[in-house]
Amino acid sequence: MKNICLLATGGTIASKPSVQGLTPGITSQELLEYVPEAAEICNVHAEQLFNLDSSNVHVPQWLEIAGYLEDHYEEYDGFVITHGTDTMAYSAAALSYLIQYSPKPIVMTGSQKSIYERDTDARRNLLDALRYAADDHSQGVDIVFDGKAIIGTRARKMRTRSFNAFSSIDYPELAVIQEGRIIPYIEAPKPASPVFYREMDDRVFVLRMVPGQDGSVFDYLTAHYDAVVVEGFGMGGIPLYEDGSLFEAMKRFSQAGHILVMTTQVPHEGSDLGIYQVGVKVKSELQMIEAHTMTIEAIVTKLMWALGQTKDPERVRRLFCRPVAKDLL
Ligand code: ASP
Repeated sequence: MKNICLLATGGTIASKPSVQGLTPGITSQELLEYVPEAAEICNVHAEQLFNLDSSNVHVPQWLEIAGYLEDHYEEYDGFVITHGTDTMAYSAAALSYLIQYSPKPIVMTGSQKSIYERDTDARRNLLDALRYAADDHSQGVDIVFDGKAIIGTRARKMRTRSFNAFSSIDYPELAVIQEGRIIPYIEAPKPASPVFYREMDDRVFVLRMVPGQDGSVFDYLTAHYDAVVVEGFGMGGIPLYEDGSLFEAMKRFSQAGHILVMTTQVPHEGSDLGIYQVGVKVKSELQMIEAHTMTIEAIVTKLMWALGQTKDPERVRRLFCRPVAKDLL
């Protein structure tokens, strides 16, 4: 039987009602007690890393999780991380960059309803995640939720209430899990050994273009951020009004040695700056990186990871443009 480490970090799955609203409070050991069937799937060792609503999870917690996984990697065959759903896609992407080429599965899961509730998705998701982590073919960082396995760089929370909260964006699901049976859709050879990183820089800002956007915000961003992700229109357009203020402000930002990444606010099929004049000009003159079909969660965390390794803009661009875990196709 496989040895799986269950790392609990909070979220709705572990929440209980309180006078201030639902709050994480159920421990990793208690989570396990709700799923006695787990004993038929694998040997589980339960650990509590922290117990937070995932709105409060960011770089320090990602580094804590990645550090734990690195320190204990040899002791287990796979890992399951229970986590709040609200930022699970960010955490899955962050872990995909902090732990690359992992031959062992690192499976994230959570639920829309707490595990103590009668009509909950928590027990199924936890059992499916343990099953997926104990499967010989699983590897790398994935999310298992509502019977689907999604690669960690491609997940997005799409629904706030329904059990099918997560989708795989512009990439197929890796597998479905039906009545305890894993049906794989995509199988890849296992990498030889993992590469761990322990640094991230969170000075990354996301700016969503709106009609009428001017450039004044970039003066603030230049002083406070190392990278800005611009969520452009359509294929990646930004407003190029007569006064040129936005374009000029972005140019000053780029010339100050900062990174600009273009993505689109359209949910599917990605950006392509090579098509329209409003895109061609920014790509050629602003040294903008194109994110193509990457999710915003993957773009932000990949920049945080790359900026954690180097402050040299050229090296950041190179790290960003190297595909990791199917983030760039
Ligand atoms: N607010 C919760 C969290 O992300 C929501 C959930 O887990 O579903 O921690």
